Amino acid sequence: MKVYVLRLGHRINRDQRISTHVALTARAFGAEGIYFDKFDKSLFESVKKVVERWGGNFFIETAEWRNLLKTFDGLKIHLTMYGTPLPEKLDEIKKAEKILVVVGSEKVPKEVYELCDMNISIGLQPHSEVAALAVFLYLVLNKVFTIEFKDAKIKVIPCERGKKVLKLE
Ligand code: SAM
Repeated sequence: MKVYVLRLGHRINRDQRISTHVALTARAFGAEGIYFDKFDKSLFESVKKVVERWGGNFFIETAEWRNLLKTFDGLKIHLTMYGTPLPEKLDEIKKAEKILVVVGSEKVPKEVYELCDMNISIGLQPHSEVAALAVFLYLVLNKVFTIEFKDAKIKVIPCERGKKVLKLE
C-alpha cells in the first residue's frame, strides 16, 4: 500500500515548525511523500535536506488541493475529530492500494469533507495534525519500527544511553 499526505492550510512563518513535523512524521512513518497547498522555500529545503542525509525517496511538492482531491486515483481520507473513529473503518482502509490522507491546520474548508471518501477521527478530542497523522500511519502501515531508508548518509545505532550514529559516506 502507498500512502500520500496532503497538508492543508499551511501558513508561511507561523506554521513552519509544525508543518515540518507533519512532513518528517509522514516520512518516518512510511508515507511516500507530502503535498502542500503553499510553497514555503525554507520548509521544503529543510525537509529535502533530511531526505538527502537520512535516505529514501520521500517527496515534498505543492499541489492545488481541490484538483488533487478531484483527480487522486485512490482512497481519500480526511483526518478530523468530527469523523468516524478509525477502528470502525480500519479493515476497509487496509484493503486500499493507494491512500491520500489529508490533515488541516486552522480551519478546513467544508468542501474537503465532501471531496474525501472518508472523514476519520483519531479520538474525538481536538489535538494535533502531527499526532493524528502518526497514529493513522502507525495503525494503517505499521512500518515505523522496521522501515529502512535507501542511500542514507547517516544511520542511528540504537543504544541505551547517549547517541551513536554510523556515517555511511
Ligand atoms: N479546529 C480545527 C478544525 O476544526 O478543523 C482543527 C485544527 S487541528 C489543530 C489541525 C488538524 O489536526 C485538523 O485539521 C485535523 O486534520 C487534525 N486533528 C486534530 N485532532 C484530530 C482528531 N481528534 N482526529 C483526527 N484528526 C485530528
